[in-house]
Amino acid sequence: MRSRPPALTCVASVSGIRGVVGDSLDPDQVLYLAAAFGSAIAGRGAVVLGRDSRPTGEMLMQAAAAGLRGVGCDVIDIGVVPTPTVALEVLHHRAAGGIQISASHNPVEWNALKLINDQGRTCTADQLEWTLNTYSDIPVGMWRRWDSCGRLRRDDGAVERHIARVLAAVDARMIRASAIPVAVDCVNGSGSVMAPELLRQLGCSVTVIDGRPDQPFPRNPEPTVTNAARTAAMVAAAGAQVGFIQDPDADRLALVDGGGRYIGEEYTLVLCADARLAAQAGGVAVTNLSTSRMLDDVAQRHGARVVRTRVGEANVLDGLARHGAVIAGEGNGGVIDPRVVHGRDSHIGMALLLERMAATGSDLAGLVAAIPAYAMRKARVALDRSEVPAAIERVATSTLAHGATIDRQDGLKLSWGDRWVNLRASGTEPVARIISEAPDEATAASLVTAVAEAAQAELLEAH
Ligand code: MG
Repeated sequence: MRSRPPALTCVASVSGIRGVVGDSLDPDQVLYLAAAFGSAIAGRGAVVLGRDSRPTGEMLMQAAAAGLRGVGCDVIDIGVVPTPTVALEVLHHRAAGGIQISASHNPVEWNALKLINDQGRTCTADQLEWTLNTYSDIPVGMWRRWDSCGRLRRDDGAVERHIARVLAAVDARMIRASAIPVAVDCVNGSGSVMAPELLRQLGCSVTVIDGRPDQPFPRNPEPTVTNAARTAAMVAAAGAQVGFIQDPDADRLALVDGGGRYIGEEYTLVLCADARLAAQAGGVAVTNLSTSRMLDDVAQRHGARVVRTRVGEANVLDGLARHGAVIAGEGNGGVIDPRVVHGRDSHIGMALLLERMAATGSDLAGLVAAIPAYAMRKARVALDRSEVPAAIERVATSTLAHGATIDRQDGLKLSWGDRWVNLRASGTEPVARIISEAPDEATAASLVTAVAEAAQAELLEAH
């Protein structure tokens, strides 16, 4: 008899197969998704399973483990861990793959499966497609007999190994000597099991805000300026020189300065690159083409080079490998240091920032003040995906494009020295996105308007 999984009702992309538990993502779907993923790799090694702290995590972990074991995969359960820890453990155990159960920054009712391949990287679009196709057409005989199902074991050493890798990547002795007062908000997510301990091992005096993974998220867990208001006040009250804010699976990092000012996520990569490029003369930094040009200013300071790719972690990781970069990431607070893990990791982000603070004797506010500031403007325009190519041609041939450097990797990007604007189709909605950056608000806003006009598109909203 054939197994028939329920139709998929969740959203699937390489960054996660995600849904609201009990609505668009159910345990039976998770069981079959894990089985489909495992059926391709059964026999090639174990599968590492981790999760963030949300209340449905353990249940979905059990469903995923059952699916994997049912198709013959051994499972290594590493418990509540940051997402980058799962990637590291795939390499440590020479596993055939990994699954992190986490809906990242989404609110508590969401959950998701993030698939990791045997390279310790987020699965490719092809691997995801293969898994989804297998799900919708489960092969006859996929389930194993009782005597050839996979086994389950637990490994509690993953976080300790991850901490050791971060410590080895920075000048831990110099950081310890500075005894920097810091605050860290783990939003009761999986960073709670690692960040406070890492910071203590770096000699910091640590104020922990919401570091209980057995407790619910105290707020909307995305580290935006609005959601982080209470945290910012607590950082100031704690007398910290820097406040770190993680998302629930601890791959993204936002910053607050000692005065309680939300610095945000756009600065995270820039400041970490400042640390890394200072230590590695002539290094290359890789980012996507809509990340702030502050990165170019920092790279120039160290005689380094910036390479830009299409938006998306996979594209940035491909660029990192191709150009032998020493640091990479995106403007969403995602920092990638290939010495630690080939994926975003808030922990190496914290360590690099502390290294720069220790080397310069400056607090976070001082490091931020030393970087030329820009205004960024983001807008959405009413354009269906099919209309975007023609709109891009209208902009590219308009007077606006005269004298601009043109980059067509992802839609259209026009750059002039200290300013740029990018128009591209949204991957998820029937709109196009415009992002601009310029030395002041008025110029950034006028670039957005000019592109919308040249594209002959109606401006829906700008912020
Ligand atoms: Mg995340």
